Amino acid sequence: MATGSTDDLDGTRQPGSRARYRTIAHGAHVVVVPACCPNGLHVLTGTGYRVYETGHTLRVSCQQCTQLGRPDHSWTFATNGQRAASAEFDDEPYAELLKDLARR
Ligand SMILES: [Zn+2]
Repeated sequence: MATGSTDDLDGTRQPGSRARYRTIAHGAHVVVVPACCPNGLHVLTGTGYRVYETGHTLRVSCQQCTQLGRPDHSWTFATNGQRAASAEFDDEPYAELLKDLARR
C-alpha cells in the first residue's frame, strides 16, 4: 500500500500555499510563517532566516540551508499583495505543510 516515497516534494514547492495573517492591535497585520525550515532540519528563529516580500509572494529562507546549498531552502507563500507590518513564527497554521515534512 505505502510506496515509501513522496515524489511530489522533490524540491519544487509551488507557491500555492497562502500566507496566513493575524490582525494585531490597531488593525495592523502580522504575517505568520512556520518556525520550521522547509527541509525540516532547522528552527528558523534559532539558525537564522530571511523574509522577502516580492509582489504577491512571500519567501522565508533558511539561512543554514542556503549556506549548505540545499535546493529547498525557502518557503514560498502567496500573499495576494497583502502587506504585513512584521512577521511572527507559528507552526500551527501550517500543520498540513509540516506534516508532509515529517513524512519524509
Ligand atoms: Zn534549514
